Amino acid sequence: MQERKPDPITDPIREAFLALCQSEFEKGSYEMTSEKNMAELAVQMQESGMRIAKAIMCSRLEDDPRRAGDKVVCRKCQGTLRIQERSQRRAVQTVLGEIEYVRAYGVCDRCGHSGAPLDEALGISAFGPSVDARKRICHAAVADGAVHIRELKNLQFPDAVFILDWAHAAQHLSDCSKALFGEGTNNAHAWYQIQKRRLWNGHVNVANGWPIGSGVAEGAVKQFALRLKGSEKFWNVSHTGAEEMLTLCALYHSGDGRWDRHWRKRAEPR
Ligand SMILES: [Zn+2]
Repeated sequence: MQERKPDPITDPIREAFLALCQSEFEKGSYEMTSEKNMAELAVQMQESGMRIAKAIMCSRLEDDPRRAGDKVVCRKCQGTLRIQERSQRRAVQTVLGEIEYVRAYGVCDRCGHSGAPLDEALGISAFGPSVDARKRICHAAVADGAVHIRELKNLQFPDAVFILDWAHAAQHLSDCSKALFGEGTNNAHAWYQIQKRRLWNGHVNVANGWPIGSGVAEGAVKQFALRLKGSEKFWNVSHTGAEEMLTLCALYHSGDGRWDRHWRKRAEPR
């Protein structure tokens, strides 16, 4: 390995990162996790990995020379972007969770375009989630635990994340508590409350900010049908929501790589 020169700026970041890795490693030791089964261990390790990945991503963005925005060309008119703010803070939702970073923000006096050179170089829009996060948000299935629905999801959307509908999961737990301890007993109630809390914690971690109830999707389907199929509904060029929706469905269902190509293209700097 190459000898590193001491660096007063990056050394503390590196130290903090190594301390995080060490603490995640220790959290996984037998003394700390002897009560856990394999499924619980896997969730814990996955979360540790995510925290480490997030820390690397943050330090990576902190290191990015493009964030300073020195001498930047306007991407609209090729003029010069005048930097208004050197250290504007931004939080963006990514597949690793929310990432915060600081970057320069400017405006072009010639054409009025404004933006952050780093965001443009990274291929993310000035607002909203990153492209990779959008792709996953567009591609999650929320349903009850019925086997046939799960099989249908695996057939139609094999890559989509499956999220168990919260209300259905809680109902199953409630039925289970009655079967175990008898309906209306204190023990049944106490057991249900504990398991529900455990389930909730698991859900929040696994769902990564996605909806955990199918109401959102069911509402969307209703809305989609009403807007597309109602009588006297017309779609024209200036209101292309339905077409965009159908295009996305078509891209995905074509199954020949168009879906991935579309999202790769979206991620390119514009
Ligand atoms: Zn311009």
